[in-house]
Amino acid sequence: MRRVAAAVATRASLANAARSPRIAIHRPGCLARRAHLGRSGPRWPMPRCRAACRATLRAMSAASAPAPAGARAPAAQAPKEAHGFELVSDEYVEEYASQVLTYRHKKTGAEVLSLVNDDENKTFSVIFRTPVSASTGIPHILEHSVLCGSRKYPVKEPFVELLKGSLFTFLNAMTAPDRTYYPVASCNLQDFYNLVDVYLDAVYFPRCITDPLVFQQEGWHYELEKEEDPLTYKGVVFNEMKGVYSSPDQTHSRRAMQALFPDNNYRFDSGGDPKVIPNLTYEEFQDFHAAYYHPSNSRIWFSGNDPPVERLRILDEYLSKFERREVDSSVAMQPLMTQPKRVVEKFAAGEKEKKAFVSLNWVLSESPFDTETQIAFQVLDYLMLGTPAAPLYKALMDSGLGEALIGRGLNSQVKQPVFSVGLKGVDTADGEKVEKIIEQELLRLSKKGFSDSAVQAALNTIEFSLRENNTGSFPRGLALMFAAVNAWIYDREPIENIKWQEDLAQFKQRLASGEDVFGRLITKYLIDNPHKVALEMQPDAKLAGETVEEELARLKKERESMSKEEIASTVSSTEQLKKHQLTPDPPEALKAIPTLKLDDIPREITMIPTDEQQYKDSTILSHELFTNDILYFEAALDMRGVPATLLPLVPLYCKCVTQMGTEDYSFVELTQQIDGKTGGISVYPLVSDVRGEDEPVAKIMVKAKTTKDKVGDLMDLLQNVMLKGRLDNQQRFKQMVLESKARLESGLVGAGNRFASMRLAAQRSTAGWVSEMTGGLSYLEYVRQLAERVDSDWPGVQSDLHAIRSSLLTSNGTILNLTADEGTLGAAGPFVSEFLDALPSEERASEDWSVVLPRVNELLVVPTQVNYVAKSVNLYKDAGYELDGSSSVIGKNLSRSYLWDRVRVVGGAYGASGSFNQHSGNFTFSSYRDPNLLGTLANYDGAVDFLSNLSMDDDALVQAIIGAIGDVDAYQLPDAKGSTALMRRLLHVSDAERQERRDQILATQVKDFHEYAQYLESVRGPEARVVAVTSPDAAKEVSQEIPDFWKISNVL
Ligand SMILES: [Zn+2]
Repeated sequence: MRRVAAAVATRASLANAARSPRIAIHRPGCLARRAHLGRSGPRWPMPRCRAACRATLRAMSAASAPAPAGARAPAAQAPKEAHGFELVSDEYVEEYASQVLTYRHKKTGAEVLSLVNDDENKTFSVIFRTPVSASTGIPHILEHSVLCGSRKYPVKEPFVELLKGSLFTFLNAMTAPDRTYYPVASCNLQDFYNLVDVYLDAVYFPRCITDPLVFQQEGWHYELEKEEDPLTYKGVVFNEMKGVYSSPDQTHSRRAMQALFPDNNYRFDSGGDPKVIPNLTYEEFQDFHAAYYHPSNSRIWFSGNDPPVERLRILDEYLSKFERREVDSSVAMQPLMTQPKRVVEKFAAGEKEKKAFVSLNWVLSESPFDTETQIAFQVLDYLMLGTPAAPLYKALMDSGLGEALIGRGLNSQVKQPVFSVGLKGVDTADGEKVEKIIEQELLRLSKKGFSDSAVQAALNTIEFSLRENNTGSFPRGLALMFAAVNAWIYDREPIENIKWQEDLAQFKQRLASGEDVFGRLITKYLIDNPHKVALEMQPDAKLAGETVEEELARLKKERESMSKEEIASTVSSTEQLKKHQLTPDPPEALKAIPTLKLDDIPREITMIPTDEQQYKDSTILSHELFTNDILYFEAALDMRGVPATLLPLVPLYCKCVTQMGTEDYSFVELTQQIDGKTGGISVYPLVSDVRGEDEPVAKIMVKAKTTKDKVGDLMDLLQNVMLKGRLDNQQRFKQMVLESKARLESGLVGAGNRFASMRLAAQRSTAGWVSEMTGGLSYLEYVRQLAERVDSDWPGVQSDLHAIRSSLLTSNGTILNLTADEGTLGAAGPFVSEFLDALPSEERASEDWSVVLPRVNELLVVPTQVNYVAKSVNLYKDAGYELDGSSSVIGKNLSRSYLWDRVRVVGGAYGASGSFNQHSGNFTFSSYRDPNLLGTLANYDGAVDFLSNLSMDDDALVQAIIGAIGDVDAYQLPDAKGSTALMRRLLHVSDAERQERRDQILATQVKDFHEYAQYLESVRGPEARVVAVTSPDAAKEVSQEIPDFWKISNVL
């Protein structure tokens, strides 16, 4: 199953970003990530997270409705003193229906923010200020390492044990430029307490400060298996950062930070520069923990419906073991420059890449913004850059100088706010032209300002998003935590960043009084601000190779400087580390990790209320759930009438629907209509296999939301965009093509595992092929050609777009899916039938799509320092497997035990997984930021033996079952529940089947693992195929080692 472009989420989160975090969690392939990023692509210096991939966000069923904003819950009397804490403040925040208590731990000075509310998705986090004075990556390595065993939990990785068998809805850790977060969340109270206890023990009493093996594994070490072998560096963070340093977008963000903050801590990379990481010593690492991981440097967060006094009791048990001390962890202020500067840098590019990155960057102020300026600047940021129709965004794209926007505006996640904007895909001769465009547009905006309709639309978007507070699958409490910490970490009132109603009302008053708020901001903070850096990054096809050479030369030199004894000792320490990594934890130690019992798990599936009606030739599903007067609307239009040759044009057609204007509105007016009257509209293709059927499900999804009073406006707008949308704006279309191209190209380097897996699926089924044609490498190839065709044959492109539209637009077979409370559903009724009446109602014949990609093993070559290695078989077709719920337990456990140990811990990759798609039958192994290629493939093959020889005691089995249930019962907000019900219908998954799977999951036995191994044996058979995204050097090496096996393509 696949979704393209979650525009609703993006739009919402953008406005949400007005107050809450622009936090990016490194979870490749995860939609939630995009939702939290705001505009597409990576933002500024991003926190890094510990867990690789997928399963970090999961959830529990029985999720109740969100707390209605504004409905004041009776606030309990908070004790003035309890368990060694004193109450500092007690305030009710209406926006989030939360009592916000601030406590100080009397003995150590640790600060606690304790939010009491109705949210069953309880959240907790410890936050340390962790400024750096070198790019050795200490805080990042420490962030990984403290979760590798502690005083009370003496196993190799308690974190992984929790990943395997807890009901967490969030479990991770992140390093930001000046702080480190340890957040968890769960809906189950006992589970929540378990997570909190493991995390508290981990941060204050970790094993890594006494056991150098942890540092070696997570940070860096020399690897030397035999004396005659070449010396290499290994380490999880070392490789994670090699992946980060291979991404031109992230290189750009990092270079901008370095240029803007030449004098304070921000010039260093808290994540670690792979060239500098090997300079880090174990002693420095220990000292850093001793200095900063102390209660006196701790900020601790709790939020949810758990008892508040118990929180203090739990904390005091840990904190009271320490004495108060002064910890200087503040970040020094960067003095503002008196002259702008221009910096030219290089980035590692492929042979084909000739284009540069160009941006203007500012440090906006010597100190953090006050609340008033902060909110004003956030609105300004949205007005200038929030949508492709926003003037600064549009001026840059209309200039035709580049392919996609970079920088993307205001960043308040560092001590002094920063603003950054520019373009990538720029001819190297045009760098200064880009700077000019930005400056001219800022000048124009400072004088002419924004139209009232634009300002109203922006305010509506921001306010809608704040009221909706839809954080997707990300716990609401943690979104609030990230927002609060942005003030709290700099010793400001954390609550400032949570409240918004009053500030927004005041801000609207200022606007209403006619004050030139925006003009003044632009002039003061941007035009007249000399702390400005023009950054140009030019492509260098040799740089990647030189980086490799440099590392090899350094290793060679280090090896030469080693005595015979030192070499022997490196061999033995390599062996010792491997042995340690591969020795299972003793069962008694594992028993220390708290887990739930099977009895804690509901036997019955959770139901989503669904009412189904036929309306003429369409179907209307509705789900009555509390949504705080918001209507969530989805239309699933059949895509099977689109001719196969036009499929790769479908994603761009989808963009046209909302981004090109209509017969009634220009592109800019339409954007303002959408912003002013809805919470967002998005259109994207959805394609999936359906188990047991040859026909895939293929729909165009139209998704929208609005408040009850604007349902009529929304339905009018939807009719307008779908029936009267213009498809003739060549310039705008070309921009969308180039933006898609740029996004796909950076995806290939940053998330090659996704491309490799898609490529494999495209060899096996129509749905896989369509997905690859509309989102994978084939799509990129198509988009590259399309960029030229838009110039050479625009009439032809237009006629193709019209053909797609006419093949889609029919009420015949269309399914509408509505989620709202009873009153809102009632109000929507008449508008919905009017909408369906407006659609034509012809029957559309299905086109022939019977195509798949040839069955080959492929190496996709890109400029990178790491590999993404995927291998796949189809268990239904190649092994005759019949679906059983135990596959969920086995796949998950395999990923979290064997693959984690082999590919990540020993192999040094950032992540690896084995995932089974129940709809297609594909079992796909994939690795992420992996230093190995053939070794990883051997590990995949070894998974079969691992499963067939597996022995597991009852506790471990229960843990595995609970882990799988946690995935099945994902925590969902009401709109997600409605969407899930629709997906189940489209994929023909009945409630009876879900109950059967659940029963099978709960009844899983060790023998199921052994049986599954027999089917997975096919991964070593002739039907299995491999696709890897890799570097030129690695491609050469493996094609020599296994000749005549690979199809090799240079793709960047
Ligand atoms: Zn990491």
